[in-house]
Amino acid sequence: MKYKTLFRLALKFLGVWLAVQGILGLVVSLGVAVVATLQLKRGQWDFYIAQIFETFLQGAWPSVIYIAAGAYLFFRGEWVVDLAIPSNRRYCHECGYQLAEPVGAACPECGVRLEGVGQSTSVDEGGDG
Ligand SMILES: [Zn+2]
Repeated sequence: MKYKTLFRLALKFLGVWLAVQGILGLVVSLGVAVVATLQLKRGQWDFYIAQIFETFLQGAWPSVIYIAAGAYLFFRGEWVVDLAIPSNRRYCHECGYQLAEPVGAACPECGVRLEGVGQSTSVDEGGDG
């Protein structure tokens, strides 16, 4: 397993962990708000419901950020991975050989035709000449 794959997996785990923290935080905030609302007497409702809602929002927005960050890391962590490990070297999809620049049409190691390898690098095709 390559380091980048390992890092990608670690990011996904971090994303899940963050999202779980956020969800737990949301549940706690929601629970506190519900309990506070249930304890209101009829005449207090109009005055306190705004305060309860405000308190809920103050407690909830960090959780929302946790969930958003977690979802981002889980689904779109590729940018972070590329930032942390900027290896734009292309690998042969067949044998895993690290290709030297410029990359030819075939892998020098196993001779397989190279197509659609390394989407992250911008390859100048320059037309068909
Ligand atoms: Zn190869």
